[in-house]
Amino acid sequence: MNFEEPFNAIIKNIFKDKGPNKEECKYLLSFEPHSIESTTLMSIANNICRSKLSNSGVIYAQIAIDIAPCAANCQFCSFSAEHTDIKPHRMSMEEIAIAVQTLSKEGDLFGIFLMTMENVDIDYVLKAVETTRESLAYGSQIWVNIGDITISEAEKLRDAGVNGAYHVLRLREGVDTMLNPDDRIETFDAIRKSGLQLYTCCEPIGPEHTAEEIFDRVFLNYQYGLVQQSAMRRTYMPSLPISKRGVISQLRLAQITAIIALSSLSYPEILATACHEPNLLGLVSGSNITSAEWGANPRDDTDEKAEKRGLTMNDCRRMLFEAGYSSIITSDFRQISLTEEYLVKVGAI
Ligand code: SF4
Repeated sequence: MNFEEPFNAIIKNIFKDKGPNKEECKYLLSFEPHSIESTTLMSIANNICRSKLSNSGVIYAQIAIDIAPCAANCQFCSFSAEHTDIKPHRMSMEEIAIAVQTLSKEGDLFGIFLMTMENVDIDYVLKAVETTRESLAYGSQIWVNIGDITISEAEKLRDAGVNGAYHVLRLREGVDTMLNPDDRIETFDAIRKSGLQLYTCCEPIGPEHTAEEIFDRVFLNYQYGLVQQSAMRRTYMPSLPISKRGVISQLRLAQITAIIALSSLSYPEILATACHEPNLLGLVSGSNITSAEWGANPRDDTDEKAEKRGLTMNDCRRMLFEAGYSSIITSDFRQISLTEEYLVKVGAI
C-alpha cells in the first residue's frame, strides 16, 4: 500500500516522537474515517497509548453534586435553562459520601470529578471536596468540573486537596453558548497559575465543525499546560433544537481522538487522551480512559434512570476488558489485573 508523500512524512515523524502540527492535523482529518489512512493512524495511536502504560486502562468517575437549570444556556446541554424542566438538586454531604464510597470501594478508580453548573457556590464545593477526601475508600485523585473561577477560588480548591480541574473553551463558545470566551480563557489562566492540573477537551464536536475550528481549538488548548486533552462529540437529544445539525459517528470521533493523541506527542507534559463518551472505538484509537457517571449528566434529556447514557463502574471495567486492556491502573500507578476473575469478583459479569 502506497500512501501519498505528506502522509508518509507525518508517519515518519510520529515514529520519532514528533506529533503532527496544526496544519498536518487538518490534513489528516481530510481523509474519510473509514479510509486506510485513518485506520492506520488509529492503529498507531492505539499502539503508542498501550505501550506507554503497559496496556493499562484507566477509570474516572463524575458525580453531579449540584444541578439546576443553567443560565449559560449552552444549546447542546440538557441543563440549559431554555430547554430543561430539570428540578434543582444539590447533593447533601451524606449523599456525596455514599456516592464516593460506592465508586471507590474496589480501589480501581483513578480519579473523581465533582460537577456543578456554571454558577459555582465555592464554599459548597469546598465542603464537597472535604467529604470526598474523607469518603474515598482508596486514595483517588479529586478534580472539579465547575464554572468559571478566579485565581483565588482556584487556590482555595488546591489548598483543599483538589488535584485538577476540567475546563473547556467550547467550539463556537459565545455563539452556541451565552458565555464569554474571554472569561473561559481567564479560567484557564487561573487554573494554570494556581498549580491545579488542567483537563480539557475539544467539544462538543458536530458535523458542522470544520477541521480548522477543531484544530484551532486543540492547539489553543496546548498553550495552557494541560495534562489531558479529549475529543467529545455532541450528543443527539430530540429536545434540543441544535440536534437538527446532526451528529458525527463514533468512528469519526475515534479518528479525531487518534489525531489529537498523536499531536500530543510533541507535548510531553500530556499524560493521556480521552474520547467522550467512552466507547470501544475510542479505546482502540489512542485513548485508554473510561468514565462512570453518578447522577444527572448534560447529555440526558430524561429523568428515567433506565434510559440514562452514563456508564457505571462495572460498565467501564467491562469495556476496558472488551477492548483488550490487561490491567486497570490505580491513582498510585499500581496495576490491577483485568481478568475474568476480577470481573466476577466485582460483579461486572
Ligand atoms: S454545558 Fe455547563 S455551562 Fe453550559 S448549560 Fe450545561 S451546565 Fe451550563
